Amino acid sequence: MPLIEFTPNGIYVPKADVYIDPFKAVENALITHAHGDHARKGNINYLCHSQSVPILKRRIGHYQFQSAEYGEIVNINGVKFSFHPAGHVLGSAQIRIEHKGEIWVVSGDYKTEDDGILTPFEAIKCHTFITESTFGLPEFDWLPQEDIFSQINDWWQGNANENNCSIMYAYSLGKAQRILQYLNHQIGPVFVHGSIQNMNEAYREAGVLLKPTHKAGSDIDRKEFRKALIIAPPSADNSYWIKRFEPYVTGLASGWMSNGASKAWLKSDNGFALSDHADWKGLNKAVLETGAEKVLVTHGYINEFANHLNKMGIEAEAIPTQFDSNPT
Ligand SMILES: [Zn+2]
Ligand SMILES: [Zn+2]
Repeated sequence: MPLIEFTPNGIYVPKADVYIDPFKAVENALITHAHGDHARKGNINYLCHSQSVPILKRRIGHYQFQSAEYGEIVNINGVKFSFHPAGHVLGSAQIRIEHKGEIWVVSGDYKTEDDGILTPFEAIKCHTFITESTFGLPEFDWLPQEDIFSQINDWWQGNANENNCSIMYAYSLGKAQRILQYLNHQIGPVFVHGSIQNMNEAYREAGVLLKPTHKAGSDIDRKEFRKALIIAPPSADNSYWIKRFEPYVTGLASGWMSNGASKAWLKSDNGFALSDHADWKGLNKAVLETGAEKVLVTHGYINEFANHLNKMGIEAEAIPTQFDSNPT
């Protein structure tokens, strides 16, 4: 019996009867992190990192959440599982699986840059590494986050000088909290969309000292929005809710912003190439540091990245998945 199988329900460990980030409802689910393409409703038992619990409760409801700390070993029918920092969003983990000396690591989504908020990514030695490759092309080459945050603050200051409200679109889990921490709050007030406030509360409950935030509710006088920055999920674009901030200028923080074609498609006034995923260099470095003999590539540019690794002399294979959309 192989230690790991790829099934229609997702990555399966038959010896322990557990799935990792299952696509469909199963009995035993190990969750790498709380983004919707990894953590779904309907499983019976969940095992995740402790900091994912307050997020999951808010996102998918109250289930039987069992949790572990980074590095803690959970033995399931003789298979040793442990969670290790992935640096992607709060509570995100790579899952290490060990049985009879054979070691696999399932990366989930990961970011190699230390963002100063999360426990930084740690490469884990293994025989087989299952890596994501959302940005697995050489053109994805992130600037250090300080540079991106100074671009964002300069943009906000410019808008505030002209009495325009700034709307910053960012995913509500991960990206929004990262932006919030590095905004220059001297420029003006910061407000957030309700879905982001919800995630901020989960971060605080998990022990992260986030800067204070106010929800941009209908109780706020519109005058207060003039020099403000509003953090909102991309889905709020063109909504009724957004009209209260007029006149406003929009920006979007996403790894796709480093790509000209996506910039036009996303129709935002300004783009900031800030991602919670590893860029090309980060993916390459992570793979090398695991020392893996075999690399399986899921999510994103799977064929391109697997081909590249094969050319580098690392045995690699692309594994297509059923659900291949990723908050970036
Ligand atoms: Zn994710
Ligand atoms: Zn993902």
